[in-house]
Order: sequence, then C-alpha cells, then structure tokens
Amino acid sequence: MLEGTKIYSILKLKCPRCHEGDLFLTKNPYNYSNIEKMPDVCPVCKEKYWPEPGFYYGAMYVSYALTIALSVAVFVAMIVLWHFDVMWYLGLNAAAIVLLFPPIFRVSRAAWFNFFVSYKTPEERALLNQKKA
Ligand SMILES: [Zn+2]
Repeated sequence: MLEGTKIYSILKLKCPRCHEGDLFLTKNPYNYSNIEKMPDVCPVCKEKYWPEPGFYYGAMYVSYALTIALSVAVFVAMIVLWHFDVMWYLGLNAAAIVLLFPPIFRVSRAAWFNFFVSYKTPEERALLNQKKA
C-alpha cells in the first residue's frame, strides 16, 4: 500500500532507490554483533549504500529526534495510564531507550539515507542506466 513512499523504505528498511534490496545484512536488529552491517551496494539496483565516508554520522540527528519522541511518549503514557512519578519515569524511560535502541538505530539510518536518495521505478532506473552506458 505504501510502496513507493519514503515511509515504506524507512519502516521496511529497504533501499531508498528501488525499495526492494535490504539495507542491512541481517533482518533481526537485536543481533547486536551485526546491528550496523550493511552491504556496500544494493543487491537489486546497485545503489551505493555508503555515498561518502562518515555519511551515517548525520543519522545521529534522526536518532536523537526519535529518542526524544520516545521519551515524550513514555511521559504521556505514564500520565494517561498511571500517574507521574519522576523516579519511575527515569527508570521506565531508560529501559524503553535501551530496549528500543536497535530498531531506532536502523530506522534512523534508513531515514537519513532517504533524505538524499529518492525512489525510482524500474523503468526510470533502466532509463538512467542507459544514459550512463
Ligand atoms: Zn536498490
């Protein structure tokens, strides 16, 4: 349904160019030794996954924004579902951040990559490859 949109690429962790190739080598984000491992190029469309050295440092800004959003969500959920207590909040918020770090890390990289690379249909990609050759 969302195929072809940036949201699809970000949430499914797919290549922002073709929305088919996986951005990461392993599917499970909680496989800690492989959390950041990405292929050099997209296995489907050959888009470079590392456009320049240090490219993904910028993903830290996205990660920061998502972590703040998570902290606000924990805060609101506590008030709505229970009552606010600062020590419980600090504990629950820290637990939420630690538990959700792996998916936030990967979604942040996907979002950062999507700022710079846009989707092309298979026909558009074929045309581009013809021009290059
Ligand atoms: Zn691709």
